[in-house]
Amino acid sequence: MTQIPTFEEIAEAHGHRCPGIAIGYKMAKAAAEWAGDEPVRVYSTTTRCPLDALRHTFRLTDETLTIEDKGELHFVLEKADGSKLFIDEVPGSKIKNDEGDKLRKKVREGTASKEETARFNEIQEELLQQAFNTPDEKLFTIHS
Ligand SMILES: [Zn+2]
Repeated sequence: MTQIPTFEEIAEAHGHRCPGIAIGYKMAKAAAEWAGDEPVRVYSTTTRCPLDALRHTFRLTDETLTIEDKGELHFVLEKADGSKLFIDEVPGSKIKNDEGDKLRKKVREGTASKEETARFNEIQEELLQQAFNTPDEKLFTIHS
């Protein structure tokens, strides 16, 4: 079976802790069960955080990962025999809050104070826990 990295390893490779990478980790775990020992190719319509979890779990390269950014969270995994797995975000399930969104903008623009940056990281951690505590089926659908 595909060796699933720990969440800590995935978050480190991703560069930060956020709800998106937590959701991606849940998707990658479910996908690894389906993949078994076989290598997979992945087609993604997003460059958002969850993609990184698949990238690291399946050690995707430019040859095995195709990205067509349409701003939707939709992944198709394919084995060598052509069988496919479809993963789709449940519409409107994105875990976020207004305070976090406002702070994210400032943090990205580099105008956040030390306190604001600390508060942003705190919110991200709360949302990450929320992502882990939400049942998979409320976050994404998965079918082959
Ligand atoms: Zn992220």
